Amino acid sequence: MNKWVLKGLKTGIKTTLYPDKEETSPGISPGLPQGKQTMGDEAQVVSRCPTQALNHIKDMISVDYRRCIHCFRCLRGIHNPVDWDKGYEWAVSIKEIDDASRMLGKAFDHSLHIRFVDGGACGACISEIEQINKPYYNIHRLGFFITPTPREADVLLVAGPVTDHMRLPIEKAYDAMPAPKRVIAIGTCAISGGIFGPSFASEGGISNLIPADIVVPGCPPPPLSIIHGLLLVVSRKPSASLTSPKSTEGERPHD
Ligand code: SF4
Repeated sequence: MNKWVLKGLKTGIKTTLYPDKEETSPGISPGLPQGKQTMGDEAQVVSRCPTQALNHIKDMISVDYRRCIHCFRCLRGIHNPVDWDKGYEWAVSIKEIDDASRMLGKAFDHSLHIRFVDGGACGACISEIEQINKPYYNIHRLGFFITPTPREADVLLVAGPVTDHMRLPIEKAYDAMPAPKRVIAIGTCAISGGIFGPSFASEGGISNLIPADIVVPGCPPPPLSIIHGLLLVVSRKPSASLTSPKSTEGERPHD
């Protein structure tokens, strides 16, 4: 018998139980910084952030997840670091948070076809997206399938800041998709351009080309965050927030 089959029979099913159960395995997520109230010199941490993701207003430090690149400068090697959340449900529904029309209906609950296009990513988000199709995360069990053609796709996943050369391929892929279709931006670059920003060579995020329905912050977001985004697009999970503490204003990718 093939040794991989034997090994599988011996070790049993190792696929994550998320979303039925919370995943608590070590290393499953790098976590995200959290906003907090300041009482002393904590505000100094704001100047350490290279992307202006941290803000200090009145007595609160807030985090803008559209800009955070997971550099850990606000956590490591500093007295009074920010708080750190170890979770992974980071996906956010853009525009009207509670607008059900932004989500795909019941028919897509367990039959969602996904087309991924690399918009000039560094490779980190691509690596995490690859994981969702592997045995540990196994999105097939959730009724989610990667498809090679946009003509079969319900959801377009885009990673990277959308480089000049990828504008046309992304537009063509989106135009070829049948309605209703939704767009999910994976990672900080796809949301805001990240460290590349908008430039002569970069769109500065997918929403400057095609409006994103859902964004998944992180640099890169771990596989469970990407799965959370897919569950959110079919209304099987609620939305997270793009800021910490949560903003009371409408959340958009480029405010
Ligand atoms: S981890 Fe994010 S919020 Fe913290 S310093 Fe780095 S970019 Fe800024």
